[in-house]
Amino acid sequence: MPTRTLHAQSRVALFFTAAAALALCIHQAATFKNIHPLPSPSLPSPTPSAPIITPTPTPPAPTPPPIPPTPAPVLPPPDIVIDPGHGGTDPGRLGKDGQHEKKWALAVGQALATQLRASGWKVSLTRDADTFISLLDRSTFANQRPRLLLVSIHFNSGESAASGLETYFSWPRQPELMAKLHAAAGLSAGAPLPPDDSAALAASIQQAACAATGSRNRGTHNRPNLSVTSRTLAPAVLVECGFLTHPDEADNIRSSSWRAKLVKGLASGITSWLAASGKSPSSSPPSPDNIPGP
Ligand SMILES: [Zn+2]
Repeated sequence: MPTRTLHAQSRVALFFTAAAALALCIHQAATFKNIHPLPSPSLPSPTPSAPIITPTPTPPAPTPPPIPPTPAPVLPPPDIVIDPGHGGTDPGRLGKDGQHEKKWALAVGQALATQLRASGWKVSLTRDADTFISLLDRSTFANQRPRLLLVSIHFNSGESAASGLETYFSWPRQPELMAKLHAAAGLSAGAPLPPDDSAALAASIQQAACAATGSRNRGTHNRPNLSVTSRTLAPAVLVECGFLTHPDEADNIRSSSWRAKLVKGLASGITSWLAASGKSPSSSPPSPDNIPGP
């Protein structure tokens, strides 16, 4: 075979060899195309979710009714306390005519209350009949609420020559006792202690009563431990209006006209002191308010 032919045959052979290789590649490629993809990593199956429970709607709590504010105690306007001494089983001093002090103390106390009420003042009596009231109950009554003042009515006894009119008060007030009485009376919530004006009240009453009756002026006296005056929060005095044991004064005390002068003088001394203290009857409408008798 000539060389050229041989070379031609070789090239043909090479050609077919290459073609076969190419064909193989194509086949492999086709085979690769048919390879299944690797499975994806298996993922955990989702846990079946719990059943959704729809909460039962809770009804709204009922709104409590509003608590009404506690109303502040309404206190009546301060008044005047008249304290007729003794009473009931406590007769007081014995007069030369056999009458006891308690009778005249009540008569003068009631007349004084009437006189002051007629002038527009509100007045309370610790007793309005022949009843026994202890000394402690008298001051306790006076301390139940704010008062303008307290006047205790008494009559004296002594040697037959002893005469005249005198007025007692208690000064100074004992701060601890006053604070205790103030709290017991429910007046401690910011309420100031009443002014300690008992000495001025005593002087006003003493001067006016002596002027009205012409009685001997025995003056005013400080007795810090006198029960009613020392335990009463409001300014307080005790008036000894005359001597049941003096012949002339005993006659005077039995006389309604003399007692009327005495009452006028006592009322004048009280109202003069109230006016000087800036008080007027308009702030104290008249209304009886007495301790009920036993
Ligand atoms: Zn007395």
